[in-house]
Amino acid sequence: MSSTVKNETLALDVKGLKKTYDSGTKALKGIDLQIKSGQFFGLLGPNGAGKSTLIHTITGLSMPTSGSAKVFGSDVVGDYKTARMYVGLSPQDINLDWFLTVEQTLDFHAGYYGMRKKERRQRIDELLKVFSLTDKKDSRGMFLSGGMKRRMVIARALMHKPEFLILDEPTAGVDVELRRELWKYVKKINEQGTTILLTTHYIEEAEELCDQIAVINAGKILKIGTVAELKKAYKVKTLEDVYLKATGKKVQS
Ligand code: ADP
Repeated sequence: MSSTVKNETLALDVKGLKKTYDSGTKALKGIDLQIKSGQFFGLLGPNGAGKSTLIHTITGLSMPTSGSAKVFGSDVVGDYKTARMYVGLSPQDINLDWFLTVEQTLDFHAGYYGMRKKERRQRIDELLKVFSLTDKKDSRGMFLSGGMKRRMVIARALMHKPEFLILDEPTAGVDVELRRELWKYVKKINEQGTTILLTTHYIEEAEELCDQIAVINAGKILKIGTVAELKKAYKVKTLEDVYLKATGKKVQS
């Protein structure tokens, strides 16, 4: 990316980020990554590549060993309170409270972020509508279908109006129909101005949604570009071949 890009236009600015776990595993070996405000950015890589570790350091769940990460200019370690407000995380594992209703789940989340009652009310109604959950607002988590739970987790991540939404493997293990439905929702969110970082090992998903893709493997970013740029760089015809050539691994389904 050009050095003329101003800092404030960067949703994410990661420099020389390294993470070595206590076990000695070097999960991140010096990541440099910049995501511009408004982008739909994909992190594509096989299991064990370091995708979750990177997300955990960005969201303050894990401390980096060295290097830095800033969200809209705020350092995720030094200014973690501000950085955290910018980010909405939809984790890979659905971690809903089964006993709370859809509405309570959204309301409690907003409470953690200090949203006022009136604003919460409006936001809940808005998100229930966007994610087609209005009819289910009084249902407890345990009674929702798989698809509804997924939509719920994304809606919750958006409750405090984060500028930067992180979707960690949002469609892992979901059927094709639901995958397409989720794509429709997240595309809309991005069109409305939210920057999105998506991690996936599904080629089709990265191709369908992302305007910029970073291929990651063994704790390193191998290449960043549009689908067309990546194909050109690896002199191949499909993104699947890019993945294969870059990671040496077959695409997982
Ligand atoms: P991905 O999300 O791309 O599948 P991860 O970030 O989960 O990759 O893992 C990257 C590497 O770090 C893997 O070798 C994994 O086994 C290791 N790892 C992940 N979490 C931990 C942890 N808490 N402690 C030790 N090693 C870990």
